[in-house]
Amino acid sequence: YAAKESQSRRERFRDEFDQRASEHARLGAQLREALDQGQFQLVYQPIVALPHGEIAGVEALIRWHHPELGFMSPADFIPVAERNGQIVELGAWILLEACSQAATWMATLGSAAPGKVSVNVSARQLAEPDFAEVVAAVLAATGLPADRLAIEVTETAVFGGGRAIEALDAVHRLGVRIALDDFGTGHSSLGLLQTCPVDILKVDKSFVDNVTMAGRHAVIATALINVSDGLNLDAIAEGVETAEQARELYRLGYRYAQGYHFGRPVANPQFALESAAA
Ligand code: C2E
Ligand code: MG
Ligand code: MG
Ligand code: MG
Repeated sequence: YAAKESQSRRERFRDEFDQRASEHARLGAQLREALDQGQFQLVYQPIVALPHGEIAGVEALIRWHHPELGFMSPADFIPVAERNGQIVELGAWILLEACSQAATWMATLGSAAPGKVSVNVSARQLAEPDFAEVVAAVLAATGLPADRLAIEVTETAVFGGGRAIEALDAVHRLGVRIALDDFGTGHSSLGLLQTCPVDILKVDKSFVDNVTMAGRHAVIATALINVSDGLNLDAIAEGVETAEQARELYRLGYRYAQGYHFGRPVANPQFALESAAA
């Protein structure tokens, strides 16, 4: 009986596994079409200066309007695109789209344009031997000055890869700024600060969530701003949802923040209006 049960459990597991694999295969095929059919869109979330909330930059975040499933979260399809390699083509499209949008804002808004656009880059993209050339080509094609672009990488993407550090060094030499995303949640955090050409630490939302309460998170948020200041990096607090958090972060020494409290990601941010209202 026990053997029978474990066999059926194994079968159920295999079924589930097969189902998931075929879902991924289907999603992979749909991803390929999605790019051709214009189903992707970038939205932009403000990164603001504390304490008053002037816009310092924006982060580009991808959205997929799936023909049957409707809105799909990047957390669900980026990992699939990474696994099957499509993130390389998709990532190049994202860079081009974000940089041409940023160049258009500069041309149409002048000094009201956001100072920087941040683009998320995955481990798989960094592993491509021509990553820096793709970035250089995008800057040349769009005319965006290199210092107006930041690329966001996670510690996990950079960890363990000599190739990834080389790619970041090459991009950094172009004048592009490098941000470590979700800082404090991946592998190796502090060690990376010695080997990686970092300009910006994006302190993960998990340390921001409870920053107003005395406890571990506040202690870590404090330690991270000290490290950041000591190394002359800009720290950005991620996922700020309340005025209390923003005030406390400012008190701890944070000068930049991002989160729903300041603005959600939107397709057409109204920079001129927002700065006039601030
Ligand atoms: P991330 O780069 O850390 O982006 C921040 C995520 O937190 C975004 O989710 C953003 O909408 C969300 N967020 C911002 N402020 C708040 C807040 O106050 N509260 C809460 N609860 N959430 C907030 P999103 O757009 O769903 O993206 C999720 C992740 O998917 C990103 O995390 C990034 O790792 C990845 N991703 C998004 N766009 C791209 C892309 O263009 N390329 C690559 N490679 N990855 C991307
Ligand atoms: Mg990011
Ligand atoms: Mg992040
Ligand atoms: Mg995050």
